[in-house]
Amino acid sequence: MPTYTTDAIVLGRRNLGEHDRILTLLTRDYGKLNAVAKGARKGNSKLSGATEPFTQLKLMLATGRSLDIISQCEISNSHPALRSDIGRLTRSSYLCDLLDCLIHERDETSIKAIYDLSVAALSLLEKESVWKDSPLHGFEFRLLTILGYMPVLNHCVLCDMELSDQMVAFSASQGGVLCPQHASAASDHFGISADTLQTLQDFARVGTEKLCNLNPGPQSILHINRVLREFMKYHSERTIKSIEFLESIRAMGN
Ligand SMILES: [Zn+2]
Repeated sequence: MPTYTTDAIVLGRRNLGEHDRILTLLTRDYGKLNAVAKGARKGNSKLSGATEPFTQLKLMLATGRSLDIISQCEISNSHPALRSDIGRLTRSSYLCDLLDCLIHERDETSIKAIYDLSVAALSLLEKESVWKDSPLHGFEFRLLTILGYMPVLNHCVLCDMELSDQMVAFSASQGGVLCPQHASAASDHFGISADTLQTLQDFARVGTEKLCNLNPGPQSILHINRVLREFMKYHSERTIKSIEFLESIRAMGN
């Protein structure tokens, strides 16, 4: 069987037969793929600890007839801090779910950039940040940029009017912000404050390391969560299941 090596992040897993698991992996070289971890559910298997979501792995895979098979595996980073509280666990699960929903299988377009961004975001989620969602939203914005879906934030999508310091509307179906005159052109529009617009523009501008210092007001946080939720839903081919749970965790202040 031909083999190949790659770095990977475990996005998800499901059981196969009595002892095995199928892992959904984001690999740095070959895109998203499913692979079999044989014997991963046996207690004494070396693979059992390697199949936890968010774990970063160095893998050797053997090309199988339908699914490839993990033949060697080394854990590079198991990200234990991401499992230390419900807020981090939920945000990391959402990040993996989002990658699974937005990245097509075996699509290698910009995959190294997407992989490196995902690793950086998981590391940022392990650290303390003033606003718990800032690493996640920073990740979402950069992922959208890489995939070519970045929302228009500086001017009205329909008339090019420059927008700043004012109440505007956001529409996922129109692909960004709308001036007050054009807001009603989109049935899915909702209002966002000048403060929210400013923070969204900052997200597109600031470096990753500065993201964790952003600290918008409570109303802007609600608006930004909604902007990204609607936008991600619009661009995903299927339901992002973990978003509802993330919303309930946010509502409880986690
Ligand atoms: Zn307009």
